[in-house]
Amino acid sequence: MTRETPEGAINGEAPRASKREGGKQPSPAVVALNRLAAPVTALRGVGPRGAQRLEPLGIETVGDLLYHLPRRYLDRSNVTPIRDVKVGEEATVVGRIAEVQARSTRSRRKMLTVSVFDGTGYISGVWFNQEYLADRLTPGSLVAFSGKVGFQYNMLQMTNPSFDVLGTEESDSRVEGLNTGRIIPLYHATAGVTSASLRKLVATALDAVAGLADPVPQNVLASFKLPGLEETLKETHFPTSPGALTLARRRLAFDEIFTMQVGLAVIKKRREREARGIAQQGTGELTGRFTSGLPFELTGSQKRAWSEIEGDMGRPLQMNRLLQGEVGSGKTVIAVLALLRAVESGNQGAIMAPTEVLAFQHAARISAMLAGLDVNLELLAGTPSRQALVAVESGEVDIVVGTHALVSEQVSFKSLGLAVIDEQHRFGLAHRVRLARKGNDPDILHMSATPIPRTLSLTLFGDLDVSVIDELPSGRKGVVTHVAGPDERQGIFAMVGREIEKGRQAFVICPIIEESEKLEARAAAEEARRIGKEFPSSTVALVHGQMKSADKRDVMQRFSAGEIDILVSTVLVEVGVDVPNATVMIVEDADRFGLAQLHQLRGRIGRGTERAICVFFAEPTTEEGVARMEAIKRFEDGFALAEADLAIRGEGSLFGTRQSGLPDLKAARLSRNLELIKKARAAAFRIVDDDPTLSRPANVLLRWETNRRFGGSLGWLFHA
Ligand code: ADP
Ligand code: MG
Repeated sequence: MTRETPEGAINGEAPRASKREGGKQPSPAVVALNRLAAPVTALRGVGPRGAQRLEPLGIETVGDLLYHLPRRYLDRSNVTPIRDVKVGEEATVVGRIAEVQARSTRSRRKMLTVSVFDGTGYISGVWFNQEYLADRLTPGSLVAFSGKVGFQYNMLQMTNPSFDVLGTEESDSRVEGLNTGRIIPLYHATAGVTSASLRKLVATALDAVAGLADPVPQNVLASFKLPGLEETLKETHFPTSPGALTLARRRLAFDEIFTMQVGLAVIKKRREREARGIAQQGTGELTGRFTSGLPFELTGSQKRAWSEIEGDMGRPLQMNRLLQGEVGSGKTVIAVLALLRAVESGNQGAIMAPTEVLAFQHAARISAMLAGLDVNLELLAGTPSRQALVAVESGEVDIVVGTHALVSEQVSFKSLGLAVIDEQHRFGLAHRVRLARKGNDPDILHMSATPIPRTLSLTLFGDLDVSVIDELPSGRKGVVTHVAGPDERQGIFAMVGREIEKGRQAFVICPIIEESEKLEARAAAEEARRIGKEFPSSTVALVHGQMKSADKRDVMQRFSAGEIDILVSTVLVEVGVDVPNATVMIVEDADRFGLAQLHQLRGRIGRGTERAICVFFAEPTTEEGVARMEAIKRFEDGFALAEADLAIRGEGSLFGTRQSGLPDLKAARLSRNLELIKKARAAAFRIVDDDPTLSRPANVLLRWETNRRFGGSLGWLFHA
């Protein structure tokens, strides 16, 4: 056995070949890791000062440098000789800087003029009040300018062109050579580090890691028809052809998806192996009485979800299941069944909500549902009383409803059997992992009403099992959605008046003001006054984020009880509030909200048997805003809407993957890759099923790479 798995590898450092091995050659994998993990100063020509300049780019090791991917590529076949550019059209030109001039205009603006010669003609780039660019645009440098061609003072020019410095005068001939390929990579650069100097460094780094071993097993690469890592890195930085570049980018995207799935598989396996788990088979007494007392029959998907949950809870393993379904699809009923199963198995259950308002709402609804079942429910929110804490600890309380304070140190349970986490996308991966390891490994049911495209849920929640409720209880009339301009205000408020006369209630949601919650509250108060004037005989109330939670609660309760006709609110009612009698929702400046938020808001109404109307006031000014308004009008189904959102915005922004604790995706586009993700996931799980800690020599590199991409946060998982 070679010592290929020292602990060093686990913490993101490459394992060092042990001297004590008596002169034995370290394996190629170890050599490769050492080279990748070496600091950039190990490279020829990089000293401490050079390393310092690279730091702001997040480049510390040779590996970081190789994975500092080009931001875009300049294809020389798209470059126009200056002689041939046409005034009024976009063009990219490449040439050497002949002259740089900075002067003040008559209007006292600073104007920087950089003229470029490419052998066929001159063109000038012009910038205003950006004289600092002169530091990077030095005479003699080879540059690319892209922009719209103009003609002024008898000269061709581009105003504010996007530019890249391809080389500097002092560049050695080798770099010149690198710059004359057909496709030129362009990097995110800083003042101290130009694209040209990065290319030179990358070339040195590629030499230094020649013969690099590949973390992805050969058979996986073969089945996905992907090139090896060394070739991939070379082609990414110095493409020999567009086709080779495409393959290299595909490989890089695959690596992101694949290592993510490997990491998720390791997390899942580890948890399944470690958690003691509780077999909660119950007597069926409480769940039976609860089910037969329901005034309706469970829908097909509710039944399926419950049988999956029931199965998980009954096994002596820890359940980690995500219950996904639209607002109003009946998740809470299923959660209550699961809580009762824990109780009838001699344990306690807890349900955790993201906000206090929701915790109160859950407590009220669930205790109503439990009437007559002889089950003790306690609410833990804010600062819980000693008495309540003691009751939970002694086991006198069966079901606890609360906020995330529930998992704090001060709360201890006699025997927690099930923790339900509502709207769990608000909690990150790290939080889930910690919670799953808490106490005596309770079963965990995550609930989410946020429709997430399958591509995303396989990554964001790739360590969970999933049940989906995909049908709404029958008898719902649904919601009519209308996107309205300002000229329709009168008609719309007349409609609100008619609904209220019929005894219905309405929500009015005020615009988001990102900069200040105070301003937002003030604007909401203003709106409430206006509406109060418009409906003098109705009861109008206001709720916003700056109010004390007791006051918010009081208003929400009065609205639930029907004492308030129109509730003017900031987005705080976003999640979970259930008032079946509310049939109208008005959202002001709707184009300022995200699609997911709009969908959540719309889900607040149409929960009763009356037809509901949702009006989004919007005058979108951006293309994206227009697209969002069209999507919300067109799709009622949350999953379809989530796919649309993904297409409009790209995944990076959707649910903040960074915050979730998962690695960033740079090359991969999730939205178009469902099949690829599924296959990569299967391949990853095959490897991890076989070698759960990735400690076999063949998997050492993969383990190192996976941990590196998860920012070193998986280290603990790999300890046996
Ligand atoms: P969610 O938690 O998914 O938002 P809820 O469990 O709160 O949904 O259910 C919404 C409403 O629908 C509740 O009033 C609930 O009683 C009712 N409901 C749940 N399941 C059914 C069903 N199968 N048939 C009819 N009504 C149902
Ligand atoms: Mg179990």
